[in-house]
Amino acid sequence: MEAMGGPMMDDSEPFDAGHVGAQPTRSAEQLETIAARRRTMFWRRAVATLLGLSFVLGIVFWQRSRTLTRQCRLALAAYAQAARQQQFAARPTALIEADWASFNTVNNQPPSHYHVIARNWSVAPDAEQSVPLAVCATPHGFLVGAGHHVLFNTSNGLVVRWVAEEEERTYLDDGE
Ligand SMILES: [Zn+2]
Repeated sequence: MEAMGGPMMDDSEPFDAGHVGAQPTRSAEQLETIAARRRTMFWRRAVATLLGLSFVLGIVFWQRSRTLTRQCRLALAAYAQAARQQQFAARPTALIEADWASFNTVNNQPPSHYHVIARNWSVAPDAEQSVPLAVCATPHGFLVGAGHHVLFNTSNGLVVRWVAEEEERTYLDDGE
């Protein structure tokens, strides 16, 4: 066995020495491994960067959407006050939309941001009733749950409430 092993070793040594020439094959594999590792690293970093960026953008977007929502609420309250001062309730229904549209923009939320339900303005609400008068034409804050601001006429006066989108559709079907 040793005799067999001997020549085998003798054979293999020059073979290995001869392999020096063939070593590029092995290092090509190694290079391929290194390249593969680098590709993996690159994609890991790319994904990490994208995730980080998405997170930051998400925060920025969420904050902006919150700010816009707050501005919308304040603007609608201001328009409601102007409408009360101008006695919209006593006006012909046909004029209400145009009169609403003529308000000066408050808080970067133009009057056109709201859909005015003109025919409801002359309705006197019962004790428990809330009559919708104006509603955001487009929903807000889909990151924190989509909804609209709605201006209601109640027996206690005009109030602005946040209404989730599904609810809003239900009563708009009734109101319109
Ligand atoms: Zn709005």
